[in-house]
Amino acid sequence: MKPRHARIDRRKLLSGGMSMAAAFAVTGRPAAASDADIVVIGAGAAGIAAARTLREAGRKPIVLEARRRIGGRAFTDASLGPAYDAGAMFIHWAERNPWVQIARDLGIATAAESWGSGFKVFAEGRPMADEDRRRRRAAFGQIDRRLETVDLGQRDMSIAELLGDLGPDQAPIAASGLLLSIGEESSRISARDYQRLWAGDDLVVPSGYGNLVAASATGLDIRLDEPVSAIRWGSRGVTVTSRSGEIRAQGCIVTVPVGVLKAGAIRFTPELPAATRDALAGIHMGALTKIAFRVEGDRFGIAPGTSFLEAGAPGRLVNFDMFPDGRDLVIGYFGGDYARKLSEAGTEEARTQIVDMLAQMVGGDFRKTVKAVSFPAWWTDPFARGSYSVCAPGHEGARAALAQPIGGRLLIAGEATAGGGAMTVGGATLAGRAAAATLARLKA
Ligand SMILES: Cc1cc2nc3c(=O)[nH]c(=O)nc-3n(C[C@H](O)[C@H](O)[C@H](O)COP(=O)(O)OP(=O)(O)OC[C@H]3O[C@@H](n4cnc5c(N)ncnc54)[C@H](O)[C@@H]3O)c2cc1C
Repeated sequence: MKPRHARIDRRKLLSGGMSMAAAFAVTGRPAAASDADIVVIGAGAAGIAAARTLREAGRKPIVLEARRRIGGRAFTDASLGPAYDAGAMFIHWAERNPWVQIARDLGIATAAESWGSGFKVFAEGRPMADEDRRRRRAAFGQIDRRLETVDLGQRDMSIAELLGDLGPDQAPIAASGLLLSIGEESSRISARDYQRLWAGDDLVVPSGYGNLVAASATGLDIRLDEPVSAIRWGSRGVTVTSRSGEIRAQGCIVTVPVGVLKAGAIRFTPELPAATRDALAGIHMGALTKIAFRVEGDRFGIAPGTSFLEAGAPGRLVNFDMFPDGRDLVIGYFGGDYARKLSEAGTEEARTQIVDMLAQMVGGDFRKTVKAVSFPAWWTDPFARGSYSVCAPGHEGARAALAQPIGGRLLIAGEATAGGGAMTVGGATLAGRAAAATLARLKA
């Protein structure tokens, strides 16, 4: 089974507690015009791993991070009181994921993903009719089944094309699960890239995956609130411009999300080579999105950990974790163009639409229980510009091309360059380590 960042059939545990990200001291040290060894841009999983690997190789990396916190798209949000992972939550393919060992080394517990307390499917707020449920079940697994038999050797295709023979009734249902796993519409996903994604067991981090990632950064020279706006690169070194000045360095690892690079937030001089620009053109950002409500009072007889899936319209699939782990939270997951539209509409509109949806399923009194909302809209977040990278059909080579060193001193690394580990925290970490190993060979 492919990595699935939002399960529609299982429950996960996440206990509350103070966010390590919030507790992490901001260095506050300005990045004044100065010389440095190697600059790493971005303090997410890839940037932290790169900096750690460079340190282990005896180098002195400086990490410049645009946000006022560490962890990037791994973020345990405690703003509602009970904490939840607003970005990454699962340690996917745990058998080979470096985060299992990192957690162990830090003394942070991981746990097997637990089965939930039930699963209810709705269509436009009403329990889905048996006949429609049967049709849904028949569509399940069609992608993996086709990938086992189709010959992608001659040419790549989109997942929508892969499912084309299912017909206009079944194909959208079969594809709809991708909105919750890849966060993208099936017509924009390369079947070859999808096929190579690693699969395996999932673990969760009860104290928060975001908190774990932030904890792994302890001791590194990370400068927060330092958005990088320009990089000059050449055979003799790089000069990086961020909010408080310029840093000249031997080399640079850029770990900002592909969406940020594509938006032109960092000006490269000279411009990036054609091969890198082509690679970027073949990768875009999906839009898996969560919305969390703090709820108080009546639980309407719903057992903690029950899943409610609104599946009336295949393009607007929303899965809800009801009171996960007994917490006073309801967390909704959705993706693709619906998530893009809601993100652009803003928090109030998203709250209205999603609470309406829940009120239809649970009953009108549900509205009274909603006390606060958290809407981490990664799609409109200037430092993410989406949830994670997706290769367009015909562009499955783009990840490897993007990882190629540029002029010997500049490297792009992150989940987007992680091959079969793409889209995940574990992949970002492996990509960060690999980039660092390349730059560590530069003469100091
Ligand atoms: C809703 C959601 C659910 C997910 N679920 C899972 C999951 O269950 N399991 C899983 O493994 N993965 C999951 N992911 C994906 C995972 O979060 C990412 O793949 C991973 O965190 C990416 O790490 P990274 O270091 O490549 O990028 P990031 O974490 O994005 O780090 C890049 C850093 O660069 C910073 N930055 C951006 N622009 C600038 C700039 N101009 N100057 C300086 N710094 C800048 C950013 O602020 C950020 O901190 C999920 C993602 C989302 C959004």
